[in-house]
Amino acid sequence: MPIESIAELVQFAPDTYGLRWLQHVAVFVVTDEGVILVDPCGDVNRRTPDVLKQAIRAVTDQPVKYVVYSHWGADHGIGGAVFEDTATFVAHKNAVPRMQATNDPASPLPSMTFDQLTTIELGGTKIDLHPTNFSSNDDYIVIHHPAQRVAMLVDIVQPKSAPFRNLLGHPDEVLRVLNWLHDDLDFDQFISGHVTPSMVATKADVAEQRQYYLDLSNAIEAARAAGAADESPAMLESVRARLAPKYGEWRRFPDLALNIEGMIGWRAGKNLRTT
Ligand SMILES: [Zn+2]
Repeated sequence: MPIESIAELVQFAPDTYGLRWLQHVAVFVVTDEGVILVDPCGDVNRRTPDVLKQAIRAVTDQPVKYVVYSHWGADHGIGGAVFEDTATFVAHKNAVPRMQATNDPASPLPSMTFDQLTTIELGGTKIDLHPTNFSSNDDYIVIHHPAQRVAMLVDIVQPKSAPFRNLLGHPDEVLRVLNWLHDDLDFDQFISGHVTPSMVATKADVAEQRQYYLDLSNAIEAARAAGAADESPAMLESVRARLAPKYGEWRRFPDLALNIEGMIGWRAGKNLRTT
């Protein structure tokens, strides 16, 4: 068989590293007074947080002082307990009920929660945590390291990939955030916490993702104007025909029906963020 790469330690910036385990990426920032870690990524493999701890030890003797949950998705969030001896756990307050529902003994609840812009300062390094506010129960945050022009928002901007299923938040709020990311936030590298199709995205990828939302919205409106009912095969076929020339090769494009359902449902006032 061809050689498979299961894990790798990467460096995004002089003080910023990532550990990839299969399709998930944990990120850590090293300072003179400790390490700030985002996501233990211990769901696919419960030993990954141990590997992560050793990977951190491979580049610094500093202990992990903060574990930041990018949001609560078990695949990214599980397994922080290996850092419990030294770390404060940090998350958006809306992550707490999700974590309580998961009730995983290896995943400490955050003791530091927030719902407004919050900054972690450690060893002269400042990391800004921006809630995305995609919906009333949203817990995603943009993690920004201004000094190194690195930003992270898990799941939302994967290059050449349609949004996940029925969208992770209200599409107009996602668009607001994509506009802000593109126009206002300083970064060169944008980390999605995933690998496929690449570990980092650029402003151009953010612009493409934003355009997908706009094109999807316009395609739905055009289908309605042509008489297609919501949730009808005619709606799906009409939207697919409009989007396929541009997005037909994108990952998850075959799940287009879920994106349509999400855009219509969120705008009709449904909250589709159930997990
Ligand atoms: Zn994910």
